[in-house]
Amino acid sequence: MMHQRSEAFFQQACKKIPGGVNSPVRAFSSANETPLFVDHASGSHIYDVDGNDYLDYICSWGPMILGHAHPLLTNHMQEVIEKGISYGLCAPEELVLADLIVDAYPGIDMVRMVNSGTEATMSAIRVARGYTGKDKIIKFEGCYHGHSDCLLVSSGSGALTFGTPTSPGVPEDVVKNTLVCEYNHIDSVKACIKANPHEIACIIIEPIAGNMGLVNADKKFLQDLRKLCEEEKIILIFDEVISGFRIAYGGAAQYYGVTPDMACFGKIIGAGLPVGAYGGKKAIMDMVSPSGPVYQAGTLSGNPLAMHLGVRLLTYLKQHPQVYEELNQKGAYLKEGIQDILNEYNLPYQIHQCGSLLTLFFTDHTIKSYRDVKDIDQKAFVSYFQYLYDHGILIAPSPYECMFLSTAHTMEELDHTLSIIKEALKRL
Ligand SMILES: *Cc1c(COP(=O)(O)O)cnc(C)c1O
Repeated sequence: MMHQRSEAFFQQACKKIPGGVNSPVRAFSSANETPLFVDHASGSHIYDVDGNDYLDYICSWGPMILGHAHPLLTNHMQEVIEKGISYGLCAPEELVLADLIVDAYPGIDMVRMVNSGTEATMSAIRVARGYTGKDKIIKFEGCYHGHSDCLLVSSGSGALTFGTPTSPGVPEDVVKNTLVCEYNHIDSVKACIKANPHEIACIIIEPIAGNMGLVNADKKFLQDLRKLCEEEKIILIFDEVISGFRIAYGGAAQYYGVTPDMACFGKIIGAGLPVGAYGGKKAIMDMVSPSGPVYQAGTLSGNPLAMHLGVRLLTYLKQHPQVYEELNQKGAYLKEGIQDILNEYNLPYQIHQCGSLLTLFFTDHTIKSYRDVKDIDQKAFVSYFQYLYDHGILIAPSPYECMFLSTAHTMEELDHTLSIIKEALKRL
């Protein structure tokens, strides 16, 4: 495929935007490609500025669960916009979205809207610290919770060591309170708590990790975490920014039957507009300003357009539980198809799937935590990615991401995708 116009845009962009992109994953650099510039998108398809047509398995990294430009979301938007684009004041739609989230999600009594997943996790941690009066937090190697300072901590630190910043500009002093444990490894958490008695405010986790490739938490691990947090009076925070309203209407909490004290949302709840939210039990959320002393604010928080789209999408998902059944079936179908190809060519790679999320790991061993994904075959991934990309199948340009499915992906398109994947894997 030709990418001349994308390349020209990219060269221009590099002069005015760092690295030519507004978020690093869009750079395509880990797949040795230049970024794609999109012209428009519809259903399961993305069309770039060179007129190429791709089957899109990025789905805006999650929000597009019904596919792009779904009429449910695009119809009548003109009327909504004409009522005003932002008020910076209260509007009834905020209530409706809060109701939908509280109703959907186990254990959440109250919710505060913000503008991104990053803001949601950052704010949830501030509230957990304010509520407990403790400073230290535990996160897990390989889990991503947005780019706020205290969460941008190197994967690679062992359980009992202090985290080291992933990025220059993040002071050691800030991340010294972030402790890093191993995913799916309860002993690493127990040891960490023991070494920091009565000092830990919260544990934050992606209950279905989607940012080291797709790695599910073991149910037993989450149950043990839940128990441990109760015993130690630590607040358990589920980061459901990817999994919320995608794995099930009630997110990973519903999927596992494990209820956290707080949860963070993003991506789907704004249907593609910049929205995040954090919520929790009433006693915890009462800490948030202006009802409590923990400050958190946002000029555009609860923006009327974003609330309107979020309400439309969540209402639809609530009324159509068969969406989740359909996505599960499609996900399982792709997984089985890929496993058959791996078997046919005797390739040892690991295919993970949970609902509408999938990752093909280019490694021959079982994957339970970040340690297991560190040595994947980058070269094989690049060759695989490029073959798919050249043949109109767009997956995330990184071996540590998920494939996202939407209801717009048809069975014929999945079969077509499998035929391209087969050719790509045959060439390895
Ligand atoms: C995407 C993501 C975030 C950050 O959300 P942004 O809207 O990009 O700030 C946080 N946590 C998880 C699990 C995510 O996947």
